[in-house]
Amino acid sequence: MELACACYDGRKMALQGSTTGVNLLGKSAVELRAYVEGLGEPAYRGAQIYHALYAERRRDFQAMTNLSAELRERLGQEAAIRLPRVARRHESSDGAVRYVLALEGTMGAKPATIETVFMPEDDRQTICISTQAGCAVDCRFCLTATLGLVRNLTAGEIVGQVMVALADNGAALKPQTNIVLMGQGEPLLNYDAVMAALGILLDPAGMAISPKHATLSTSGIVPGIERLACEKVRPKLAISLNASSDEQRDRIMPINRKYPLEKLLETCRKYPLRPWEHLTFEYVLLGGFNDSPDDARRVVKLVANLRGKVNLIPWNPGELPYEKPSAERVEEFRKILTDKGMRAFVRISRGQDVMAACGQLALAESALAPPDAAHA
Ligand code: SF4
Repeated sequence: MELACACYDGRKMALQGSTTGVNLLGKSAVELRAYVEGLGEPAYRGAQIYHALYAERRRDFQAMTNLSAELRERLGQEAAIRLPRVARRHESSDGAVRYVLALEGTMGAKPATIETVFMPEDDRQTICISTQAGCAVDCRFCLTATLGLVRNLTAGEIVGQVMVALADNGAALKPQTNIVLMGQGEPLLNYDAVMAALGILLDPAGMAISPKHATLSTSGIVPGIERLACEKVRPKLAISLNASSDEQRDRIMPINRKYPLEKLLETCRKYPLRPWEHLTFEYVLLGGFNDSPDDARRVVKLVANLRGKVNLIPWNPGELPYEKPSAERVEEFRKILTDKGMRAFVRISRGQDVMAACGQLALAESALAPPDAAHA
């Protein structure tokens, strides 16, 4: 597919502060307090930095006017706010913006990259973020899987994606921001960094995104779901289901051999949903593979007795050997679910003309010039 690429001046979001200093992005309130105390400053300065960095989204120490001039100067010399660098920016005809972000460190001879997608809507924006560079889970319909796991992202790199997308779309922002952890990587296999990032993103004193507006999507890592169930502050949970039987799921999601459907759905049944909450089951409809009426009837049985909804995502043809299901087939599938009283919706991926499916953009990038070339 021809990419609608726009080279982007990543220097607009360049590093603030020292190039070698301690990166404050991703640090919690407790960590920032310890950091300032280490500088010989009073502990409350940590809370001031936390507020300026996350609540006010200041990316420049000089703009943190709640700090003394001396401390701003010192932070400029000894610390930094290092955001992921925008290597490329792809704007879709539907308004979605996909970013290829270069991280510190490399993937072979090239900078490690991830992708983040900004999707504007009438009354809100949704930002899809990555939690790992590449992924080890090896889902057969996912191009990210072909990269393997490059590395886990840090909490700062996860929070940084939201900051980059909000800053780049600053003039057009709506009051509500939703985040979905559905980009590259399996969030529950980078658990500690993901929860540290969510601690900042969902903190009313931090980035102040409501837990009702945050969704973590997993391929079905049962111990991770059980751990998440015990968290005081947590996002909503989505399960990437994609099959109507173990035999079928084994073929496209090898993780199913470790956590088969019965175990996964039993864990879902025990999951402590909050009064306003429901589970989301994502089901990518792969034409001729998992989109038959019999598949739909099996899905009904699988998710019966669960407070949830099913999002049906027709396969977006790309490099992988699956077909786009016909519109009639998609509608028939949806109707079988809704006739049985289930909530089922057909979702079309945003930004299809700039490669919509999980991991497709990053893979295309690896075949293009290294991101640095965009700024040469
Ligand atoms: S679909 Fe998600 S979990 Fe599966 S390989 Fe791709 S990134 Fe990993």
